Order: sequence, then C-alpha cells, then structure tokens
Amino acid sequence: MSLSEKPVLYMVIPCYNEEEVLPETAKRLKAKMTSLTERGLISPESRVLFVNDGSKDDTWQLIRSLHREDTLFSGLSLSRNRGHQNALLAGLMYAKDHCDMAISMDADLQDDIDAIDEMTAKYHEGCDVVYGVRNNRDTDTAFKRQTALMFYRLMTFCGAATVPNHADFRLMSRRALNGLAEFREVNLFLRGLVPMVGYKSDKVYYKRGARFAGESKYPFKKMLDFAIDGITSLSVRPLRMITNTGLLVFAVSIVLLIWSIVRKLTGSTVAGWSSLMVSIWALGGLLILSIGIVGEYVGKIYLEAKGRPRFLVDEILDETAAPAEGGCAGGKRP
Ligand code: UDP
Ligand code: MG
Repeated sequence: MSLSEKPVLYMVIPCYNEEEVLPETAKRLKAKMTSLTERGLISPESRVLFVNDGSKDDTWQLIRSLHREDTLFSGLSLSRNRGHQNALLAGLMYAKDHCDMAISMDADLQDDIDAIDEMTAKYHEGCDVVYGVRNNRDTDTAFKRQTALMFYRLMTFCGAATVPNHADFRLMSRRALNGLAEFREVNLFLRGLVPMVGYKSDKVYYKRGARFAGESKYPFKKMLDFAIDGITSLSVRPLRMITNTGLLVFAVSIVLLIWSIVRKLTGSTVAGWSSLMVSIWALGGLLILSIGIVGEYVGKIYLEAKGRPRFLVDEILDETAAPAEGGCAGGKRP
C-alpha cells in the first residue's frame, strides 16, 4: 500500500452450518463495509471472505449466490470440516496475499461489528494487531462464564499466555499475517499464537451479544478439547511440573531419612519402618524425576518439531538493507 492509497480490508468469517445467520450477517457486513469505504478508511477493493468449513447445510450455496450478486463477498470452501481454528487460518492465509489488514469474526454476529471502526482506526495509528476484548459476559450462561474463567486461569498457570476475554475477533496487518504464516504448527491455537507474533498491538473493548440465530457449534466437549489443545499445543510447562514434583518428593525422602535416623538413635522405631519409608519416598521421587527429565527432552523435541520462527524483525535502521515492509526475515543485505 502506498501512502495515498487506502488499505484493503478483508473480513474473514468462518462458517459451519450457518445458513440461518448468513443472509443477515452479509447484509450487516455490507452496510459496515460501505460506510467504511465512503468514509475513506478502507479501499473499495476490500472484501468479506466467507470460509465454508465443510458445512452440511446450504451455507456454501448461499455464499455462492452472495458472490454472484455482489463481488464484495468472496468465498473459500474447505474440502471437509476442519474446525473453527483451521477454517480461520485458511481464510487468513488466503487473505494475507490480497489485503493490507484482515479482521476475523464469527458468522453469528456475537462480536460487535461497530468495533471494526475502532480496529481500523488503530491500524491507521500503526498497530499491527488489534485484539477485540469483550467487557461483559452477561449474555453467556453462568456455566459458560465459570468454565471460561477457569480456562483462562488454567491457561496462564500452564504457561500459555493469552489475552483474557479475547476470542478470535481481531485485526491483523499483512505483516503480522506474514509473521503468523511462519508458525507452521499443525496443532493450532490462534489466540495463543498471535501474541507470540509480537509487533505493536492494542485492544478494543466491545460488548458481546447473544447468537441471533442457530445454535452454538461449541458444545461443552468441544470446549474442553479446545482448552486441552490450547495448553498442550502452546506450552511444555506441564512437563516441567512433573520434574518439579519429582524433585519435591525426593526432597521429602531426604527429610524422612534424617527424621528416621533421629528416631532410630532415640530408639523409638519399629524395626524396618525407617528403611521402608525412606525407600518408598526416595524411589518414588527418583521415578517421577526421571519421567520429568525424559519429559524435558520430549518438550524440546516438541518445540523443535513445531519449527516456530526464532525471531521476526520489526524495523531495520540501515540504508543498505532491504525495506522492512511486509518482511519477516528482515535484515537481508543486497
Ligand atoms: N465454526 C467453524 N467450524 C466448526 C465450528 C464452528 O468454522 O467446526 C465457526 C462457526 O460457524 C462460527 C464460529 O466458528 O462462525 C464460532 O462458532 P460458534 O458461534 O458456534 O461458537 P461460540 O460462539 O458458541 O463459542
Ligand atoms: Mg458464537
């Protein structure tokens, strides 16, 4: 994008069996995109990209007819259902080659589309990532609220840094998307990965509404799978916890050893008690510790296998260097 041109915005909307909500979503998004274009905030080349995640209903036929009626709407259909995160990534990776910024949003309009204005404003202020953060959970059931809270606590405890109360409603610049593309992992947990990309980021607060039609595609079991996936795919801290437990149990065995020697010297023990106690704890501790050590290596292999980028360059101050625009590798000299 040159300075005089307006940035091209791609709205990326994953859709799984969303025929009930799509017509309304398309209508409201069209109004929003038109208003943004008229105010000169985005280029007329901007698009709404619906990603059909192997829907079993008429979602794709709907997307096709939307595209036929108006080129504002484009579509991408996956070969089968691959889940929300993969559908989202598919859309973002397509968008990155066509846009200057992409905003991901759910099809059910639970995210407030008016927050898009603020997001694009932050992009113009120089942010590469803008997180949509919900400031209330009134529309959720008490059960979903509690489980969500537990989820964020557990995530933080397990070493997976995420932005609390941020789902997948966010803006990413082309350069951040290129950075994200460098993360080649298959176990995908986007809200944990995006903060790892880095660059200047900000938050926009919004009120999350209720799904206006259809039902949630995230039943409790899927949510639980999602939480476990999130932790195990972002961090290897659970493995480190095994090592620490082993060390702790082993330390207890040393204390017991000293204690039982003292008891023996004072003559107040039953024969065999000291040796049994100490060996149970010492062996247990050593076993857990050994599993932990093996775990440490498994964790290293796991991270190596993910092949995450070791760094992404933000800016380069060097007249002879290639411009940093959109570059992830950066710093390459001619
Ligand atoms: N979704 C998807 N693939 C799936 C499940 C969901 O693309 O396998 C999409 C769905 O169409 C919606 C978004 O992911 O746009 C979020 O799903 P939903 O609203 O059902 O989740 P909730 O808001 O209840 O957490
Ligand atoms: Mg929803």
